[in-house]
Order: sequence, then structure tokens, then C-alpha cells
Amino acid sequence: MARKIGSRYTAHQILGRGSAGTVWLGEGPEGPVAIKLLREDLASDQELVGRFVQERTALLGLDHPHVVAVRDLVVDGNDLALVMDLVRGTDLRTRLDRERRLAPEAAVAIVADVADGLAAAHAAGVVHRDVKPENVLLDMQGPLGPGGSHPALLTDFGVAKLIDSPRRTRATKIIGTPDYLAPEIIEGLPPRAAVDIYALATVLYELLAGFTPFGGGHPGAVLRRHVTETVVPLPGIPEELWQLIVQCLAKAPASRLRASELGARLREQLPLLVGMPPLDVDEPDGESAEDVPEGGETAEPTAPASRVRRGAVPLVPGAAPDSNRDTHTSMRVPGPDELAGGARGTARAPRAAGAPRPGSARHRASARRRRITLGVAGAVLVAAVGVGTWLATSGDDAGATPHDTKNSAPASP
Ligand code: ADP
Ligand code: MG
Repeated sequence: MARKIGSRYTAHQILGRGSAGTVWLGEGPEGPVAIKLLREDLASDQELVGRFVQERTALLGLDHPHVVAVRDLVVDGNDLALVMDLVRGTDLRTRLDRERRLAPEAAVAIVADVADGLAAAHAAGVVHRDVKPENVLLDMQGPLGPGGSHPALLTDFGVAKLIDSPRRTRATKIIGTPDYLAPEIIEGLPPRAAVDIYALATVLYELLAGFTPFGGGHPGAVLRRHVTETVVPLPGIPEELWQLIVQCLAKAPASRLRASELGARLREQLPLLVGMPPLDVDEPDGESAEDVPEGGETAEPTAPASRVRRGAVPLVPGAAPDSNRDTHTSMRVPGPDELAGGARGTARAPRAAGAPRPGSARHRASARRRRITLGVAGAVLVAAVGVGTWLATSGDDAGATPHDTKNSAPASP
């Protein structure tokens, strides 16, 4: 089922599907490539296409061994495609699902790679905004590094930002994946480089623990934890490594390390981690009462467990469910009083080492790949009213205001 993309590329077979479109194995003048064909509704959005073309300098200019290189942008009739280097391997989510937890050396090696890629992006003025295991590809053809890990490459640059265009989101909406969202985004500040560091530290924690530090349960509860809670120590983690995680999960963006420094500090740790087995951490279970919105309605999705991932709703309202775990939330930014947690209280007491983590979804173990379909998302957003008196915004984008202009990458001439 070959398909022509522009005059230079042919798409042969589907490699994967995501929230933004479908990734194809393709062929270009210089050999095999990966072609991300944006969803039709995105591709037919003239404004989004304009932004896409505007961003091409930043996207095409990012050339780094730990960034999946974008080689070309194709605007052809109804097609809007991003031509990338083909990475032969798997994404980090798939590996994590398979192994549950990675040995510290492998986890740190992978995250150090991503930190280096982020450093290059940040130096070029690009904030990724959607760092998570799904967007890290492992190059199985690359040389084996520390802990037996293949090189890790960060992908999906700029795509979250493109979709987060003024017409698609109100200034008060949040775009991102709940588990990895830095507190300042939830508080309504423009996303700067430090949001990527927070997300990457979350990924490192997740690789080591098997779950994210603040995930689990209702998306509103996840967002609130980012703002109000302190990360619970992982039993058996080397102290220096833990301090790096804590520093990069700091609520204040300025307290976090920069990407280049994080990469360097992580690599310093590698010799100390050789041969260390994965941490012995209990899978969190049990959902504490704090995650149950008032009114007794839980955020428990009703869709089959294998299809619904906790705390996640589709990126764009109306998006059809697909095979990808790549999901975003889009919610109103809560006010400062709401974020304070009010009388409901927020902080969870640190648990004893190995004890179940309160507040995490009891469906975590079986639900790693679950996702909430739109219908459920609607119910979840309505339920959010109970959690933080939050209201879901409508899909009507009229009158929206620019959201991210300060953060725009340099436009092409
Ligand atoms: P989305 O924009 O929807 O997040 P992704 O970029 O995450 O889409 O891609 C979806 C899937 O396609 C990935 O999980 C991966 O399996 C595959 N994929 C994406 N980019 C590449 C690439 N450059 N080389 C090989 N496979 C890729
Ligand atoms: Mg992705």
C-alpha cells in the first residue's frame, strides 16, 4: 500500500500511530526514512500549517546524536508530513512495559542521552514540552552503552507546540501529559526549558520505580500533586542519584539543573551503578480517598483496562482512539486558591520503604497502557468539578488568545 508523499517520498508501511498522526516507514532520495503524516484535521488547519512551515528552521536545524533528526517538511495537497531519520528499534515505553523497571545503570544511561539531546534543543531555543517514554526511541542498531542500553533519541520536537496553537487552545488550557507536567505549567506560566528537565526527571524516576512520582488516579489529582506534593524517596537508590532527581523535580523551575549539567552529572554516576539490579520497589496499589472526587464518583474509566491509560485523555477534543499511548490532557488552569488544595488537604505521608504508595491508581499494574476515550474523558472532566471545582472548557475555540508566543522558536525567513 505504497503512498506518495510530495514528489520525493513514498510511504510503505505503518510503523506506529500517535496522537498527532501516523508514522510510516518510507523511502526518500537518500534511502529509508520515517514519515510522520499529520492527522487530516490537523493538516487541513491552515493556521497550523502556517506554524508548521514557520517552525521549519528550528526543527530542521536540530542535529544531534540524541535527537531524531527532522529531514524535511512536506506540504502537499491535504498531506502535511514530517520526514525524519528512521530509528530502527523501539520506544522507551515499550521497553519499560516489558521490563517493568530498568537497572539503574541502564536507566541513567538512557536519561543522560536524552538530557544531552535536550541540551542541544534548549541551546537552539526549542523547548520540547512532551518529554515522556513514548517520545524516546532506542536505536537497536546503535552501539551498546552502559548497562547494555542502546542509544536513546528524543523525538516529537515541536509537535506539541504546533498543536497547542492559539486557535486550538485557549490561553487557559494546558497541553501536556499529566504525569510529566511541571508545576509551573499547571500554574499557567509559559513553558520554558525547565519543564523538560522536570519531565525528564519524572521519566528517570519512572524507569527506576516502575511508576511516575505523581501519577495515578484522576488527572486533576495528578496535576494537584505536581503542585503540592513532595516526591517520596525510592528505597535503595544511591543518594547522589536521588539528589539529582529531587533537584530536577523542584517545584521552582530555577532550582532545577540545566540539561547539559544533568547529562554530565548523570554520566558521573554511571561507574557507581555498574551491576546494580533494578530497585526493589513495590508496585503502588490502592487508591486513597483523596483521588475520589466528592460525590462518590471515581475517575475509574469504564473502558476495557487494556485500552485505557490512567490519567490520560486525548490531545485534541474529538480525536479518535488509536493504538498509541501518547495522550495529553487539556484542562482549565486552576486558580491559586484551587491549587492550594483548600481544606481537602493534599500531601500524602511518605510511606515506609516498600510500602504501597497511597494515592496511586490501584489499576496501575494492569493499566499501564490504558487510555481514556473521549466519552470517558468527558465524564472525567465533569468529575473534576468535584475534585477542584474545575470546569471543563468547551471545544469552542473562538476568541482564544495566543498562548505560547514568547516561547516560539525562531521563524524561518
Ligand atoms: P506522535 O506524534 O503521535 O506522538 P510519535 O512520534 O510518538 O507520534 O510516533 C508514534 C510511533 O511511531 C512511535 O512510538 C514509534 O514506534 C514510531 N516512530 C516515530 N518516529 C519514528 C522514527 N523516526 N523511526 C522509527 N519509528 C518511529
Ligand atoms: Mg509521540
